[in-house]
Amino acid sequence: TPLSQIRNFSIIAHIDHGKSTLADRLIQRTGGLAEREMSAQVLDNMDIEKERGITIKAQTVRLQWKGHVLNLMDTPGHVDFAYEVSRSLAACEGALLVVDAAQGVEAQTLANVYQSIEHDHEILPVINKIDLPAAEPEKVRTEIEDVIGIDASHAVLASAKSGIGIDEILDAIVERIPAPTGDADAPLKAMLVDSWYDPYLGVVILVRVMEGTLKKGQQIKFMQAGTTHLIDRVGCFRPKIEQLTDLGPGEIGFITAQIKDVAQARVGDTLTDAKRPAAEPLEGFKEVQPVVFCGLFPVDANDFEKLRESISKLRLNDASFSFEMETSAALGFGFRCGFLGLLHLEIIQERLTREYDLDLITTAPSVVYKIELTHGGGQIDLHNPADMPDPNRIETIAEPWIEATIYVPDEYLGSILKLCQDRRGIQKNLTYVGGRAQATYELPLNEVVFDFYDRLKSLSKGYASFDYHQIGYREGDLVKMGILVNEEPVDALSMIVHRATAEVRGRGMVERLKELIPRHLFKIPIQAAIGGKVIARETISAMRKDVTAKCYGGDATRKRKLLDKQKKGKAKMREYGSVSIPQEAFIAALRMG
Ligand code: GDP
Ligand code: MG
Repeated sequence: TPLSQIRNFSIIAHIDHGKSTLADRLIQRTGGLAEREMSAQVLDNMDIEKERGITIKAQTVRLQWKGHVLNLMDTPGHVDFAYEVSRSLAACEGALLVVDAAQGVEAQTLANVYQSIEHDHEILPVINKIDLPAAEPEKVRTEIEDVIGIDASHAVLASAKSGIGIDEILDAIVERIPAPTGDADAPLKAMLVDSWYDPYLGVVILVRVMEGTLKKGQQIKFMQAGTTHLIDRVGCFRPKIEQLTDLGPGEIGFITAQIKDVAQARVGDTLTDAKRPAAEPLEGFKEVQPVVFCGLFPVDANDFEKLRESISKLRLNDASFSFEMETSAALGFGFRCGFLGLLHLEIIQERLTREYDLDLITTAPSVVYKIELTHGGGQIDLHNPADMPDPNRIETIAEPWIEATIYVPDEYLGSILKLCQDRRGIQKNLTYVGGRAQATYELPLNEVVFDFYDRLKSLSKGYASFDYHQIGYREGDLVKMGILVNEEPVDALSMIVHRATAEVRGRGMVERLKELIPRHLFKIPIQAAIGGKVIARETISAMRKDVTAKCYGGDATRKRKLLDKQKKGKAKMREYGSVSIPQEAFIAALRMG
């Protein structure tokens, strides 16, 4: 295809504003799929994504419109996948900015649109859902201009659901988004935009060719990884796979090259010709590192091998998630896993539970702390509170901080500001636009990983939106808080907290555990402690009778049933010395109140 007839664009939107629905419409209108082939949402592959409405893996579809080739790149919409979003945007010359006509501009819209502007994109605003009775397209048009600062006079008014405005959007893409540039005869430079594991094809790599040509049978080199591979397939998605002989400059498509592991095909790498390599890789490669860690343990110790296999399989498709074996006195054998963020954690946890049918205990999420040891003992990265060195060996501890942008209707602002304050937030900025406030805070990531997002949503009845990026490490007065049940430390419940908030956290934890741990035949003290010092304490009083007592002399089958029930319950319990803690108690205790 001649460069002048190619248009590469992505769709940016806040979650639920209609990105996937619009993508489906565009595919349908340009004949990519017959009506009957349209599943509810073509671009969202995995069941989980459909349910959560989140597009995790970027996918790209080649559309045909009035003699032009339009490459639509779907991007993940969540903060955890910010780097993938940035690579997808770097592969395009323009973006459709989809804004819900009833909701207006939200925090994620802002974060994504600013990234898009940074990539010099031509931005085409689309005001979607104009079919809704609550739609206020003109108000939203003004909001786009006031808040984002781009011209919205030509914004297309659309309904992805009812099919209004679809042709106008396609025409606007051709007319307004610039064609890509690039020299077909230059040494090959292609950006690795995404990669995923396919059981039939092996690792599939999505690329955007910048210069030169990618061909089937070509020997290519990954400039960051330093590996070479033979291309055995070149193609594109319409959205069905179509094989091609080559991909020229400006084109987006996929290749396969007998690669077995996605870790060898990292997003952002540059592909070049092994025989005639480019002098320099493309800019902006970044190795993504997990930022949130937690332990995953099987409820049933016999499931450990199954957990290992399942985790290994998931990792085939996701190089950004890490795992290594961990043993816990309380929970037995499991894995310490690293994630890009909390949502990433939840997705993996949910897939293990659902797709692999595993019952899991997840320990409290923790960030990575940097600890400077005394006497020139060097620096360590702490991924697990259980590995915290003795306090007198610690010179300083530093924790990661983020800058968060929160967008919230005025009426909820007070409670949101209090939430940020309680989480050690430092206010950086506060502005008002049309009944809503935009607050910028610096916050320790540690205070956000627990339940910040849930709190934010519930305090604002779902109206607040939130986005963040990391801003580096800062020293803090951080201590390890341990939990003791019947004088025994429960390692899985220990956490690193700021000294100023330790008592509140500790109190909350022991109070919750008191509610959650069933009574036993003896008294059980529950304590939160820092070092040897107890900072909070509760006691579970003893139970008088055992469950079968009331059946004595009576019905034998009823008694057996009760005992059976007890036995089943046991399978889900963890023993602490002489105390049994039900699995739900763990999960509930680990959720911050
Ligand atoms: P995404 O999260 O941005 O990909 O949003 P989706 O495409 O999944 O849409 C979120 C919800 O909005 C779904 O329930 C859609 O059916 C609905 N939706 C999308 N576009 C429209 C529209 O134009 N009108 C109405 N009424 N609903 C829409
Ligand atoms: Mg979607």
